[in-house]
Amino acid sequence: MSSFTEVFATHSVLLLVYAGIIGLLIGSFLNVVIYRLPLMMERDWRIQCHDFLEMPPPSIAGNSFDVFNLSKPGSHCPHCKHSIGALENIPVFSYLWQQGKCKHCKAPISMRYPIMEFVTAVLSCTVVAYHGFAWLTLALLVFTWVLIALTMIDIDHQLLPDDLTLPLLWLGLLVNFKGALVPLPEAVLGAVGGYMVLWTVYWAFKLLTGKEGMGFGDFKLLAALGAWLGWQSLPIIILLSSLVGAIVGISLMLFKGHKRDVPIPFGPYLASAGFLALLWGQTLTSKFYSLLV
Ligand SMILES: [Zn+2]
Repeated sequence: MSSFTEVFATHSVLLLVYAGIIGLLIGSFLNVVIYRLPLMMERDWRIQCHDFLEMPPPSIAGNSFDVFNLSKPGSHCPHCKHSIGALENIPVFSYLWQQGKCKHCKAPISMRYPIMEFVTAVLSCTVVAYHGFAWLTLALLVFTWVLIALTMIDIDHQLLPDDLTLPLLWLGLLVNFKGALVPLPEAVLGAVGGYMVLWTVYWAFKLLTGKEGMGFGDFKLLAALGAWLGWQSLPIIILLSSLVGAIVGISLMLFKGHKRDVPIPFGPYLASAGFLALLWGQTLTSKFYSLLV
């Protein structure tokens, strides 16, 4: 395994610049997905519930738009409803240029949007730096972007949408169809094993304490990570995510007065552990096993 600086030196700077620009644009799109996908799901559930109970279709309160999906209505300031033009929508730069305020009504824009764009760009560059210019890199970028969206949606809503976890799982199996990352049998076992492990933990926890420790979305996310990285990476992913989860959980309780009973989403830890395992999985796994033996 070559060091980080060596990896950067061997690829052209231009490739990384492209990766950064694409990362910024995708980050901007992820902001939309993170905000709108849960709202779209909620609307769907309400419509389905009304339909099932044979009630008239619900009026969607607080939102005057009939069509609501990832592209419609167009981006607009939530404060003054002025629609955001292309020049105001340049990732990070527009935010800095407008000093974090809406151009029309001067309402502050959340720092979170440029931060998400920047983080997506940095992670995209890292993936490209490690894997170079190849089809596999494109797949790994999609893997990374979906993990970012899942992380933020889980933090906001304690929800890991099937619309993201299941396609991620299928894509992982497809990528490994000819063994791009791991041989297909290892990927299949990874998917099944990932689901089963957390499913077992869930039921054991529920039978012992009567509480639900995690959601079904967590099983599906670990299944997806197993499909991409193979069953051998499952122990290190679980170990890393539990470790970081425990540290963050305890610090939240100590410093922010987070209540013990309020669930902390596990998805972000699984997603970060999956990303780390993608970059340094082999090194981490061999270190882990050498500690055991
Ligand atoms: Zn405004």
